[in-house]
Amino acid sequence: MHDPASDIASRLVHHDYIPPAGFQAPQTPVYKASTVIFPNVAAMRSREWKDKSGYTYGLHGTPTTFILEERLCALEGGLQCLLVPSGLAAIANVALALLKPGDELLIPDNVYGPSKDLIHGELRRFGIGHAVYDPLDPADLAARITPATRLVWLEAAGSVTMEFPDLCEQVRICRARGVTTALDNTWGAGLAFAPFDLLGDGSLGVDICAHALTKYPSGGGDVLMGSIVTRDEALHMKLKLTHMRLGLGVGANDAEAVLRSLPSIALRYRAHDEAARRLALWLQQQPAIAQVLHPALPESPGHGHWKALCGAAYGGAGGAAGLFSVLVDARYSQAQVDAFCDGLRLFKLGYSWGGPMSLVVPYDLARMRGRPTAHLQPGTLVRFSIGLEAVDDLQRDLQQAMERAFTA
Ligand SMILES: *Cc1c(COP(=O)(O)O)cnc(C)c1O
Repeated sequence: MHDPASDIASRLVHHDYIPPAGFQAPQTPVYKASTVIFPNVAAMRSREWKDKSGYTYGLHGTPTTFILEERLCALEGGLQCLLVPSGLAAIANVALALLKPGDELLIPDNVYGPSKDLIHGELRRFGIGHAVYDPLDPADLAARITPATRLVWLEAAGSVTMEFPDLCEQVRICRARGVTTALDNTWGAGLAFAPFDLLGDGSLGVDICAHALTKYPSGGGDVLMGSIVTRDEALHMKLKLTHMRLGLGVGANDAEAVLRSLPSIALRYRAHDEAARRLALWLQQQPAIAQVLHPALPESPGHGHWKALCGAAYGGAGGAAGLFSVLVDARYSQAQVDAFCDGLRLFKLGYSWGGPMSLVVPYDLARMRGRPTAHLQPGTLVRFSIGLEAVDDLQRDLQQAMERAFTA
């Protein structure tokens, strides 16, 4: 037959070489596509995009994203997974899929901050209400559930102030009232505890896990991505339809970067954790520090709940993210605390966490919390994300910056 691509321009688009099948290597290949090619019209008409039986369009998945989804299910103990362009997009996707005008969602007072902007800036315009509950008081959560409540956000530990809630009791309360639970599982990362099997006997779990893959699954400080994992096909489909209608998808190279980092996540998580605990204990001894907020420290709010849920991880050492905050004693001014942060050399000023570089952020607690914070000492809050540098170097860095900022 006459070659339909006779010109070089056509031949370079429609080249007929196909490499031998059976290629295997440790890493997942990067399959890039907006267009997916069908063998014939019948296949185009009949192929289903809602499950993973085939490929229809880049937004609906490629071998690379399917493999990442399945590995994230394994990490968190789920059955279905959606990938979104950021952790915040995961939070937004859940809210937009499950809430309609007149509905209400509940958030903990220590919720990831930008969730509040999503609620005030977007959800409110659609007539979706919200209420804020005390993460340390399950009775307060129970009292705030109304017939309009459709979704309860959970965070363990909470953002910035690190309170560890009684997650099991929170989930029991929501289940008894028939309210869907969505856990922001970025801190636990699927390693500190099992979000879909909180008691270890399969009897209790959250409905949805949102995870900022930007943090430990990426592990490099160079990828933005989120996931939404479930164990219920109907709930997954509801989330997936919204995901598709909003046009949410992730880039193949970013998916491959996360796939490359996932095999080391358990080792990295443990290393970040050990280093963070050493520094948190050391900071606790420093006279300028009024309180250290790290769930594995007995003084930290909700420590008992952390111990009960996460204490068995890593052979009984317990699991925690390499993240903690301190309250600098109130006798030091904001300017002195700023000078401390500026004086650090290895710790860099920057948002996010989970990468190899240690980071520091000063927070204005009074502007972030609506509820009284009697469990916190007065003082100025600074959050540390501990990277993979040598702990002694990090400790010396903290010491020199404290000496210069807090003894003058
Ligand atoms: C970082 C973070 C997010 C958002 O992730 P992005 O990818 O930065 O949008 C959500 N929840 C928690 C707890 C986080 O730390």
